[in-house]
Amino acid sequence: MKILLAASEVVPFAKTGGLADVAGALPLALKDLGQEVIIAMPRYKAISEVRFKIERLSGNISYSTLGEDIKVYFIENNKYFNRDGLYGDKTGDYKDNLDRFSYYCKRALELLKEIQFKPDVIHCHDWQSALIPVYLKNLYAKDSFFKNTKTMLTIHNIGYQGLFPKEEFAKLGLDWSVFNMEMLEFYGKVNILKGGIVFADLITTVSQTYSKEIQTKEFGFGMEGVLNKRRDSVFGILNGLDYSIWNPETDKFILKNYSLQNLQDKYQNKEELQKICKLPVKEDVALFGIVSRLAEQKGFDILAEAIESIMKMNLQLVILGTGDQKYHLLLEGIAKKYPKVLSLYLKFDDPLAHKIYAGSDIFLMPSKYEPCGLGQMISLRYATIPLVFKTGGLADTVNADNGFVFGNYKKEDLIKTIKQAIGAYKNKNKWNMLLEKAIQYNFSWQESAKKYIQLYEKAKA
Ligand code: ADP
Repeated sequence: MKILLAASEVVPFAKTGGLADVAGALPLALKDLGQEVIIAMPRYKAISEVRFKIERLSGNISYSTLGEDIKVYFIENNKYFNRDGLYGDKTGDYKDNLDRFSYYCKRALELLKEIQFKPDVIHCHDWQSALIPVYLKNLYAKDSFFKNTKTMLTIHNIGYQGLFPKEEFAKLGLDWSVFNMEMLEFYGKVNILKGGIVFADLITTVSQTYSKEIQTKEFGFGMEGVLNKRRDSVFGILNGLDYSIWNPETDKFILKNYSLQNLQDKYQNKEELQKICKLPVKEDVALFGIVSRLAEQKGFDILAEAIESIMKMNLQLVILGTGDQKYHLLLEGIAKKYPKVLSLYLKFDDPLAHKIYAGSDIFLMPSKYEPCGLGQMISLRYATIPLVFKTGGLADTVNADNGFVFGNYKKEDLIKTIKQAIGAYKNKNKWNMLLEKAIQYNFSWQESAKKYIQLYEKAKA
């Protein structure tokens, strides 16, 4: 099949979040499975010839390659994209984001004609490319070039929808008839993601549980109604993990490489981590690790409520993260008070993250909601047992067989489950069996890509 992947960020060219990882990894896996894929994204300032090999196609289209030969087309526009930020700056979102991304979507469609690439499927991601299905079903409805082109929209986090004042609708070049409650209107505003949900042939999210959750009031951010209407076309496919980066056998950042065959070597990494973190070097005390944005979404509200009780347990905790100032302040206070229990790093530090994944016994990830989540998948690969709240991708990847799960989003439940994990850690034989199971979990892109292909085929049928 011929596939255009349309995303506003793609690793290694530009990244602000998990979307870029997916957009950079999925095409490679699709290609390996015999699909013909190209990518179209905006050309931001940071995508420069100094960093990448870039060639020119025409006046405002350039291209590079991903992997061996997947073409990545850059849509250029000096006024819109030649900026430091992708979506905004320190003061907030760019005011002309509707102009920027509607331009990107239209230009991407025109590009397909210029290069005579007739896709079977255009796979769009998040609100920034969600206008593509809207344009195809409206502006291009009678265009024979796109007669056989279907669309899929993947939602990575429904909290971001592309909301704009009604006055901006005219700039989209669409008929006012689509500005109604059933289509692009949302409480008097223009909602771009909603348009994508209505007009895409299929909709996916990044885990099965999240695909159900977003159809409820609690998690839907107002999109539950329109998603519910399309429930037969909504699917969940878990993201894969890049095992060339996350692999304890080859990881260059950790002291001692290990695998299923020499799992006990993991403890040398624990010892090193305890030393780095200035925690007492003790093998028999369970070491908990957190690598996360410090945000309510990641469970820091109940963690903050529970932290004093946690500090009094027989454990050690290392936290690496940045985020909300209030959590920075709170945790700094706790780290001062309990220096032998909590070690705190308020920064982004990739090498240290690797050491924490390898050296901890238990990975704490009590997210309130989690579309997919990477931390729990990484920690399983490092035989570090995840402790999670039962939501979204966490519910789909962690269970009593490979970790600890709590089902009530309350501090009491969190505390109880941490105690349970500490108890389990004491039983060496059972613990080792758990590690052996954990390290063998495989969330590969190949499996996810196969599922995407099945859905592309479904869209075509
Ligand atoms: P989200 O994308 O919602 O922040 P995920 O679990 O999907 O959460 O992915 C987060 C990724 O970022 C993981 O790979 C995690 O290891 C990494 N990460 C988060 N915070 C830090 C940090 N302070 N230092 C290094 N890596 C971090």
